[in-house]
Amino acid sequence: MKYEGIVYRPPSEAYSLIVQVTIGCAHNTCSFCNMYKDKKFRIRTLKEIDEDLLDARNQYGHVKRIFLADGDSLVLSMDSLKHILLKIKELFPECERVAAYATPKDILRKTKEELKELKSLGLGILYMGIESGSDTILREINKGVISSEIVKAGQKVKDSSIKLSVTFISGIGGKDKWKENALESARIINLINPDYVGLLTLMVEPNTKMNEQVKNGKFKLLNPEEVILETRELVKNIKVDNCIFRSNHASNYFSLGGTFPQDKEKLIGAIDDLLRGKYGYKPENLRRL
Ligand code: SF4
Repeated sequence: MKYEGIVYRPPSEAYSLIVQVTIGCAHNTCSFCNMYKDKKFRIRTLKEIDEDLLDARNQYGHVKRIFLADGDSLVLSMDSLKHILLKIKELFPECERVAAYATPKDILRKTKEELKELKSLGLGILYMGIESGSDTILREINKGVISSEIVKAGQKVKDSSIKLSVTFISGIGGKDKWKENALESARIINLINPDYVGLLTLMVEPNTKMNEQVKNGKFKLLNPEEVILETRELVKNIKVDNCIFRSNHASNYFSLGGTFPQDKEKLIGAIDDLLRGKYGYKPENLRRL
């Protein structure tokens, strides 16, 4: 297997075979993200991808899951995606699920029928980084997409029966927009009704525009208590069915998890216990991305 640079994958793909079908992220300009700053975006050739798959087949006995990296694999054409999924079926008949990151714009470029076709060929789950439901915040972080496009893309994935996992970032609106971040994020979660919601907490990375904004005072970071108050507001306003909620990423100050709607009050209770001081926050030096 040939890997170029640092390869990222969602925590739930920790045991998956990772295959890079693109290098980097086609967008690569979000103000808080430095994941692919060292990579110039390109789509790998089908020959390179086939060679990696063959190589992996020769190395690994049983491959249950495959994750297509890097940042937005759904940017590939339908022909390329179909070729890769068919090759996976041929070489890894035991593979139960193929997964990928997808940006809202990648998803919108595919029709519902095309997504259904990808599902029938083994694409089982898409991970979409939403970050915030607020159009103001999305514009400020240069996400390159507005909330109505995110909602349309999310609903399209759900309609195709591909599982949808979305992530939001607490604190991404800073002190000025924490409430807007919570309320607008809950609003679009309710419109999409994703299968999974993951909540990360903002960590400011060096070499990012956001780092400059923090240094020059234009962006004010939330403290741990403000983060939990924002999370409380988010949880309180989520009204969805059958949606697994997790806030247990290495970046979070505290771990939370449950299924909506049945665990909503339990989640709020755990947050209130935290606010009353029953539990402590994760120390800053133990937080990771
Ligand atoms: S957050 Fe996602 S879309 Fe934005 S630059 Fe990073 S990888 Fe690309």
